[in-house]
Amino acid sequence: MERSIEPFGLGIDMDTGELLECDKKVLRYLSETKDIYADYREAEKILECGDVLTYEVHIVDIPESDGHLGFCLSITHAGRVGREYFMTKGHYHSKEGTAEIYICLRGRGYMLMETRDGRTAEVPMSRGRVVYVPPYWAHRTVNTGDDDLVSLCIFPADAGHDYASIEKSGFRKRVVEGEEGPLIVDAAKPEV
Ligand code: ZN
Repeated sequence: MERSIEPFGLGIDMDTGELLECDKKVLRYLSETKDIYADYREAEKILECGDVLTYEVHIVDIPESDGHLGFCLSITHAGRVGREYFMTKGHYHSKEGTAEIYICLRGRGYMLMETRDGRTAEVPMSRGRVVYVPPYWAHRTVNTGDDDLVSLCIFPADAGHDYASIEKSGFRKRVVEGEEGPLIVDAAKPEV
């Protein structure tokens, strides 16, 4: 049965992009996401000196049922594994016909997106930019800046997360540091 929820408001510090009240924080460390990077040897080398927090999700508890909108703050920290920038694992929605909106509050980077039939897209993210993730598109944020990349994400609360499909196939594109800034490269060819 659906839990009832009363109307409420909460604050976001618009300078830091911090959600002032959240119910849960999910912390993702390099040790648990090292397989998403092309250069696993470089990841192992970093881990020899200790684990690194690469991203966090700050979650507000909303019933995961039809009609509600879930929202959370996505914080991808700055850093690289070799030339590849820190990023989230990325996911499809379990209920695939559901979209998501990311409102970027701080930092700089890309939203990497792709569909199961091979279409890909990279949308730049920076403070004040809004990214629309259509239904059926897997999505991952990549931080190409020196500061945290922070976005407010809003999605149908019953969308769910399917990490497994994209874990198996990997994203078709990667974002790596180039001579003159970030480059989008084919995942099959990480060396450019
Ligand atoms: Zn999503």
